[in-house]
Amino acid sequence: MRQSSRRGVCLVISAPSGAGKSTIAQALRQRESRLFTSISVTTRAPRPGEEEGVHYYFRDMEIFRQMAQQGDLLEWAEVFGRGYGTPRKPIEQALAAGEDIVLDIDWQGYRLMKKALPEDVEGLFVLPPSLEELEKRLRGRDSDSEEEIAKRMKAAMSEISHWREFEHVVINEDLEQAVDDAQAILRAARMLSKRRSDIAAHIAQWSPEG
Ligand code: ADP
Ligand code: 5GP
Repeated sequence: MRQSSRRGVCLVISAPSGAGKSTIAQALRQRESRLFTSISVTTRAPRPGEEEGVHYYFRDMEIFRQMAQQGDLLEWAEVFGRGYGTPRKPIEQALAAGEDIVLDIDWQGYRLMKKALPEDVEGLFVLPPSLEELEKRLRGRDSDSEEEIAKRMKAAMSEISHWREFEHVVINEDLEQAVDDAQAILRAARMLSKRRSDIAAHIAQWSPEG
């Protein structure tokens, strides 16, 4: 049963681009139907098949900067020369309502989220099985230019160097296994005693005779 008296968990999944974080996050959302989906704002152009308000809110740099300045973004970062940010209000409302959230954002975003919501955020870093496989996946996605792929491969090792900042690490070799692992992490995070604001009331109902 849903425990509305507890706050939600915000599971942040980060990885070098192409390692599979959005695939894992999407699979988790299918398995856990009540996960709240945060839609980021970006200044990059939509890829084929990407829809406004579904994959991202696509905005120009001026609007993006305005949103950041007004505090409308809980965190934002420049990744590959483009702005990416997480709208503040929906996240705060979901957590207060006891809804869990999965965010797939980069390591800088994770760091800022952890600072903004230290009690609510759990970090999961996803590694590819190898750099060769990472490049294969970037190419397989078939949506980025050669230049974009080269930029992402160049950034990969420096992104990977942040893995220790995350509480959890999963190697995404077999997708089903990686999703199982991510789901186990989310479930365990829900049960951390610091989040169980429902337990004291539960125990208080018990009479001393049992
Ligand atoms: P990211 O969000 O980290 O940039 P994606 O989720 O877009 O990465 O995944 C990059 C590509 O790799 C996609 O085409 C995806 O289908 C594929 N992929 C993800 N996980 C696996 C896996 N375990 N094995 C093979 N391909 C995968
Ligand atoms: P892509 O252009 O491939 O969709 O995303 C590029 C990078 O930006 C990925 O590492 C992705 O996780 C990250 N990203 C997406 N949304 C956000 C966000 O809201 N905030 C931050 N900090 N990074 C994001």
